[in-house]
Amino acid sequence: MNPTELRDQLIRWSNQNSGSENHAGLAAMLALLETDFAILPGVALERIACVGTPAQALRGRFQPSAPTQILLSGHYDTVYGAANPFQHCELVDAHTLRGPGVTDMKGGLVVMLAALDEYLRANPSPGLGFEILITPDEETGSFGSAALLAAAAPRHHLGLVFEPARPNGSLVQSRKGTGNFIATCRGRAGHAAKVPSDARNAIAALAEFVVAAHRLPAEMPGILLNVGLIRGGGEATNVVPDFAQAILDVRITRAADRDAVLARLDEIAASINAREGLRLEITGSFNRPPKECGPVEEAAFAVYQQCGNELGLAPFGWVHAGGGSDGNLLSAAGLPNLDGLGAIGDHLHSDREYCLLPSLMERAQLCARFLQRIAEGNVLKK
Ligand SMILES: [Zn+2]
Repeated sequence: MNPTELRDQLIRWSNQNSGSENHAGLAAMLALLETDFAILPGVALERIACVGTPAQALRGRFQPSAPTQILLSGHYDTVYGAANPFQHCELVDAHTLRGPGVTDMKGGLVVMLAALDEYLRANPSPGLGFEILITPDEETGSFGSAALLAAAAPRHHLGLVFEPARPNGSLVQSRKGTGNFIATCRGRAGHAAKVPSDARNAIAALAEFVVAAHRLPAEMPGILLNVGLIRGGGEATNVVPDFAQAILDVRITRAADRDAVLARLDEIAASINAREGLRLEITGSFNRPPKECGPVEEAAFAVYQQCGNELGLAPFGWVHAGGGSDGNLLSAAGLPNLDGLGAIGDHLHSDREYCLLPSLMERAQLCARFLQRIAEGNVLKK
């Protein structure tokens, strides 16, 4: 495929809405992928059901009995729903395409397909097999496809995740783990004017919790915490409210941070629960553990960089990312993986999202060369 074909494929895919909740759009996008991935010689494609959603994943397998196995992972949903005004691509200049999902991660899927196409057309080794797994719900936490990723992980030696590269071309070395928690505070209702009062104001108590919780990132390095939503009280201001609730986004850098953060949140809650008439409960969990970098990733990244040098591409590094991806789930399932192998762009999850078009071909050639290296047996110990 040439750069113009890759650009046109990206435009076609991105103009098809596939917001995580738009099931008709997801089905139409899946059909496009199925048609386009069918060009890969020797790859058997199938649709796979996910848990709790009618949306399906696309799986492709090539030489499943070969001694070395690679998992190529991506998602075809985007954050832009059917009602979002951002629905179509616009060519900003010859090198820049703005559009919904152009980088996160339809551009990554273009890179994946072009890389496999190039690799397979150059006499592929019988020693390397791979599995393509493209899922429909990454942007909403991968709740329906997590089991597919976990089941695929043990079949492979390395995962390749086609999430966006950073705007400067860096790959992703590690990612924070992410969780959502709900803090629910119950007090005792009463008349605002009653003195002395036996009412307990749930909003005031929850506010204390929120202020203390917001100090966690300053107290604990590597932790991020955001209160994203708060609600409580009723319609009348002369009633002491007996209910208030906050929803928290919590991120951790190391798996070992998990228990420490939960213990600290419980401690803050306990200081409120020690008072008569108030009850603050925390529910929720971490849905993606942190993706930490190990020796397999280190070795694979060094080869990726070397492949870039051989192709004469601009040098690139790798960085820690605050956002989670399916790379986190693969790591948690024991599969080392390289992440951020997709297109280069910026302003993801906004109507300014753009993709640097030359990166499609460059990153595809880079990945194809890396697959060749793996097939030669120089990267992964069997
Ligand atoms: Zn993504």
